[in-house]
Amino acid sequence: MNFVLATTNEGKIKEISDLFKDYTVFPMPNIGYEIDENGETFYENALIKARAVQSFLAKSESDRGERNDRGNKGDRGDKGSNDNGGNMGDVSIGNASNMNDVKNIILADDSGLVIDALGGKPGVRSADFLGYSTPFSVKNDGILQLLADVPMQNRTAHFVTVIVGLMPNGEIKTALGTLSGLISLEPKGVFGFGYDPIFFVPKIGKTLAEMRMDEKNQISHRALALRQLREYF
Ligand code: IMP
Repeated sequence: MNFVLATTNEGKIKEISDLFKDYTVFPMPNIGYEIDENGETFYENALIKARAVQSFLAKSESDRGERNDRGNKGDRGDKGSNDNGGNMGDVSIGNASNMNDVKNIILADDSGLVIDALGGKPGVRSADFLGYSTPFSVKNDGILQLLADVPMQNRTAHFVTVIVGLMPNGEIKTALGTLSGLISLEPKGVFGFGYDPIFFVPKIGKTLAEMRMDEKNQISHRALALRQLREYF
């Protein structure tokens, strides 16, 4: 069973590939445009990403079919592959050779940070909160400033991940994972990505960015959702 990821976020790719290391996991193909994540919910956004990759793979498959009908063989799988098809840091992911097979399962993740004292923000808008291209060091400082007067006991927050698995037979599998914590008083840690440095997990006594990937993958929202989905597979 092979999986194609519908995300270009390196942090997510590493975590998902680590949790699915006994499967072949392909990075997202280069679909040629930026996906507009304009859904109202995590589920809608995950489905938008998964569908974009599905349409791209279906089109690649039909293009290949047409070429093969004309007797043009030999480039199977090359179309649309992106440059990161071999390795992502220390996580090895699928070689791009049969990424475009429509029988692959497409996995899309939409995640976000829900902060109670901010009325649930950034929530589904976590990627563009304080500007899509703003570095996370600046976004995290911005959140800490917004919470400057909020005492520790009211800095409750949770991460949410919704994973959508689009099966080759058209079925849609979904899984939800959440992780509760507190927004810390200052950023801490060098691991992980995104909002990890300001998300403190009381039961571990560390921020997510102070945990190595295998430690984060024991407890994280994404890991919980992916484990549920794995049970199905
Ligand atoms: P999206 O699911 O790609 O739209 O991601 C939403 C935003 O939340 C992105 O900016 C991510 O960097 C951030 N994010 C998603 N998952 C995590 C996580 O596990 N830790 C920290 N930040 C995350």
